[in-house]
Amino acid sequence: MIPILDLKTQYDQLRDEIAVALQGVLDSGAFVLGPDVKALEREVADYCRCRYGVGVASGTDALRLSLAALDIGAGDEVITTPFTFVATANTISHSGGRPVFVDIDPLTYNLDPDAVAAAVTPRTRAIVPVHLYGQPADMDAIMAIAERHGLAVIEDAAQAIGAEYKGQRAGSIGHVGCLSFYPTKNLGAYGDAGMVVTNDAALADKLDVLRRQGGKTKYYHQVLGFNSRLDTMQAAILRVKLRHLERWQEGRRAAAQRYDALLAASGAPVTPPYVRPDVRHVYHQYTVRAPQRDALVEHLQQRGIGVMIYYPLPLHLQGLYADLGMAEGALPHAEAAGREVLSLPMFPELTEEQQQEIVAAVAEFYG
Ligand SMILES: *Cc1c(COP(=O)(O)O)cnc(C)c1O
Repeated sequence: MIPILDLKTQYDQLRDEIAVALQGVLDSGAFVLGPDVKALEREVADYCRCRYGVGVASGTDALRLSLAALDIGAGDEVITTPFTFVATANTISHSGGRPVFVDIDPLTYNLDPDAVAAAVTPRTRAIVPVHLYGQPADMDAIMAIAERHGLAVIEDAAQAIGAEYKGQRAGSIGHVGCLSFYPTKNLGAYGDAGMVVTNDAALADKLDVLRRQGGKTKYYHQVLGFNSRLDTMQAAILRVKLRHLERWQEGRRAAAQRYDALLAASGAPVTPPYVRPDVRHVYHQYTVRAPQRDALVEHLQQRGIGVMIYYPLPLHLQGLYADLGMAEGALPHAEAAGREVLSLPMFPELTEEQQQEIVAAVAEFYG
């Protein structure tokens, strides 16, 4: 049995550190926006090379509050990718705005800047690029389009903390960057948590007000806010884990290189991840394109190998977005990716022996 993700091995190495951190919170009694939240905001902002971090309840809320802070609302169009987790788009819908889905670059699975440029209308207010699987989108091209039309850029960096585009960290390039600390992410809490990072002091202040019911002072409310704070216990856990994050990122990157070599040597007709030469990929997922994908998935599962499909049905074809009236064939690269991709087990502690077993099972399938 090789799981797609092994959180237990990592926890076993951290038990004592985590126990001490949690005991500290319990002893302090500072359960809501306690000192650990402030410290984590500083540390994560530094890690992302941003000036500010605002801790919120989840990655989804990081997106939702960012849209609110940028005054995205009714009638506003927001251009994004359909090949992502649903929260990238449903937060746009919750804001009152409308997601405008455009096609992806078939090599990187990220937003195609030419498709973004072609979709801009007088109602466009923002672009939400996603750094899918841990590889940054083409941010120079996206920022150029945004500047030309006066649009906001909200980076969905939920899968890409620590990734770099031309030396800049994911989340630090757009107006805001949204991080998720969902347990399976590269920096994962033991529950839900998220953060918005930004270099804009006014936006950071607005986000801070929005997450605490729309007011700086208790029981006085200037704007329509939310209850969305990063839990102090999760912050204490994340501070422990952040100290190990770079080692884990390098573990993922080494595992990806081993996969590349093993797959190439195996002769299996799968396409490994394409990595832009100007990025640091942090391999939230190691995702390949595979002929006869569904049969391969079944074969690997029978061999006890955990695999997942991120994501089988692009968002423009989901029932949720039926009202957009986009038919099959509208965004062919996203649709092909949904049919052809498959993510292999990926976590920092993955061993070469495990990877040999996985690649042998892939090669066995293709005979
Ligand atoms: C995980 C994820 C989110 C949402 O994060 P949560 O913390 O689960 O709310 C948003 N976008 C992408 C691309 C994600 O992978």
